[in-house]
Amino acid sequence: MKDLLELLEELSTCPGPPGGEEPVASLIRRHLKPRYQFQRDGLGSLIALKEGSRKEPRLMLTAHMDEVGFMLQSVTEGGYLRIQPLGGWIASQLPGQRLHIHGSKGPVEGIVAAIPPHFRKEQKSELKVEDLLVDVGGASRKEVASLGLQLGDLITPVSHFAVYNKKLLANKAWDDRVGCAVMVAAMKKLKKHPNMIVGAATVQEEVGSRGAVTAVEVAKPQAAIVLEGPPADDLPGVAKDSPQGALGKGCQIRLYDPSTIIHRRFWEWVTELAQTKKIAHQLAVRQSGATDARAIHMAQGGIPTVVLGVPVRHAHSHSGLIHIEDVKATLALTIAVLEKLDNKTLKSLLPT
Ligand SMILES: [Zn+2]
Repeated sequence: MKDLLELLEELSTCPGPPGGEEPVASLIRRHLKPRYQFQRDGLGSLIALKEGSRKEPRLMLTAHMDEVGFMLQSVTEGGYLRIQPLGGWIASQLPGQRLHIHGSKGPVEGIVAAIPPHFRKEQKSELKVEDLLVDVGGASRKEVASLGLQLGDLITPVSHFAVYNKKLLANKAWDDRVGCAVMVAAMKKLKKHPNMIVGAATVQEEVGSRGAVTAVEVAKPQAAIVLEGPPADDLPGVAKDSPQGALGKGCQIRLYDPSTIIHRRFWEWVTELAQTKKIAHQLAVRQSGATDARAIHMAQGGIPTVVLGVPVRHAHSHSGLIHIEDVKATLALTIAVLEKLDNKTLKSLLPT
């Protein structure tokens, strides 16, 4: 338990925006080092392999390393930064928040400033990220450059890890560092397995699953399990009917989103396994969103893929919340799948 909490804190605190995932990759490699062999793809995804009692099937266990972030787009005459979002942000949540701009002299902290309504031409228009400025205390382009900052620098939220009410964990980047934590913990804990484990920590999911497109070519899986931190819908007014991603209700098994119809026999088999092992789970038919499954399930002639998730409240912001029991349930179900999915079982799930 202490190990799992430490792993969650370490992974969620680590900076890793799209295109800048290397600190996360190093961390994951360090945790898996003695028992796994590593490969990289050309975009930066990390692939870790271990053979069990059989070489097949090759099971891809995957989570994306990137978190939503920004890139330094330009610097105003007076030394303010403009930022390009990398992934989906709600602009109205940003003013007053702090960011780290990862420059050549290390991270520089700045505060997000909105142009006050008095000075905005269209006062009633919705706030856009493009309207926001970041104040790093520089009074000119020259002063900003002297801080080691330049166009293209990557930017992440400033946040910190905290435990609320003994069971909820707060920090940035739960989407998808909680998936990375479950992947790492499962790969460390796993002992006997009748298959080849191919762990893939992917890059650039938040800008359109670009890392998954390339990682799957290296991983060459016969089935895949995508581990995610999907948005929770247990806030008042979010779910139309009962929530399908409530904190504390267990591992979310995704059946559908607009990018992927999850392989029916595979998710049914996983759900039965959860029932047999008495692992808390909740089924979700998502009417929006996508995961790396969108790229993986259509690769190499079609790969049966399931998506397991730990619901994240306030996702894509500076401060998300997850429930430790959901992490444990997702970890238990992931290990159960890896221990059980052999060639014969996989064959029975495939069309004949
Ligand atoms: Zn995600």
